[in-house]
Amino acid sequence: MKAVLDHVGIAVKDLDAALAFYRDALGLHVEVPEDVASQRVRAHFIPAGASSLELLEATAPDSAIAKYVEKRGPGLHHITLRVDDIVSALAELKSRGVRLVDETARPGAEGALVAFIHPSAAHGVLVELKQSPISSLQSPVASRQSSVASLQSSVTRHQLGDLELISLFDGFFRLDGGAMFGVVPKPMWEKRTPADDRNRILLAMRPLVVRGARTMLIDAGLGAKDDAKFHEIYGVDRSRNLDHTLAEAGLTPGDIDIVLASHLHFDHCGGFTYRDANGTVRPTFPRAQYVVRRDEWEDATHPHERNRASYLADNFVPLAEAGVLQLVDDDQTIMPGVRVQRTGGHCMHHQAIWIESGGRTAVFPADLVPTTAHLDNPWIMGYDLYPMDTLAAKKAFFKDVLAKNALVFFEHDPSVAAGYIREDKGKRSYERA
Ligand SMILES: [Zn+2]
Ligand SMILES: [Zn+2]
Repeated sequence: MKAVLDHVGIAVKDLDAALAFYRDALGLHVEVPEDVASQRVRAHFIPAGASSLELLEATAPDSAIAKYVEKRGPGLHHITLRVDDIVSALAELKSRGVRLVDETARPGAEGALVAFIHPSAAHGVLVELKQSPISSLQSPVASRQSSVASLQSSVTRHQLGDLELISLFDGFFRLDGGAMFGVVPKPMWEKRTPADDRNRILLAMRPLVVRGARTMLIDAGLGAKDDAKFHEIYGVDRSRNLDHTLAEAGLTPGDIDIVLASHLHFDHCGGFTYRDANGTVRPTFPRAQYVVRRDEWEDATHPHERNRASYLADNFVPLAEAGVLQLVDDDQTIMPGVRVQRTGGHCMHHQAIWIESGGRTAVFPADLVPTTAHLDNPWIMGYDLYPMDTLAAKKAFFKDVLAKNALVFFEHDPSVAAGYIREDKGKRSYERA
């Protein structure tokens, strides 16, 4: 097994005193802290050559770091070793009888996979194994900076006339870069979006809340029903997810009146349902009517070889069984100010959602324009079933967007939740909103 020291984790009791030493006395550079909500901890990274120090500060009394400090006082908490293949590393350790805290790798921050080895096996040191999602050729500091510097996982609010639009976040995942850009050659797309050592690019899931006459949620991310193998294949990092961002927006699942689907692929409707303690799959939003385009429902419930991997029945069939499904036939207004428009292309009945109030326009194009790297017409996903329809739909879409100066939401962009489109001599760019 080849292992490289990634970082040393240090549990801190008094952050200011720790900064007085590491930053002021030693003169080291401390990066902007990162909250790991699921662990109730704030991490302050300090680059030190090819590795880093990580100061860990508890953000709640029930955090593992708070308990550690209470029991043993501040000090060395763990070391993290980076490995190329965490699954085979764990298999090898298991075969040698090494005691593990995590038998299988689980998603850590930034799309990495992590697993802890028990301190009793490592001579009193808690050892974390990490498989970085970024090419292992890069140093951890460089890779972390390139992947994290501009990542966006926070809630953003936009007022549009009488409507409030709140962009939420359900985590990151990874898809094959070639598949995300279709016929565009890698030397071109990797300049916009670097690939990891498995050729995958980082994507986000950003459902959108519209608050007006009623409270609507458009798409709901991946949800929590998938197993470790799925998380491994798709590099899922839901350490910060829809539960957190919905709460930050001041909402509970019971506040949602309408859930609207752009289409029924798993990264858009996985969060429509959840698995309860008995293993029964139920609607996540107890009061909501779920609005789905009828032809998309037909396609999703009758998948073929080419789209079967995208349509997972547990994400939507339980809605029909619970009697909360509302099928709509054509382009129409779903609630005042919110209208659906079929785009086709990505799948035959994929739809964009246009939002209008007070003379202003916003639009949620979903997989028609999934990221800011997809603004140019020929940058079309290889996943699309009807790419020539996507091309026609994109031309019409950007014509409308520019005419109305519409605020565009990018459902899968890892860094930009929303922006305004500019076009100069046929070249499109965006301005972050
Ligand atoms: Zn899709
Ligand atoms: Zn998608």
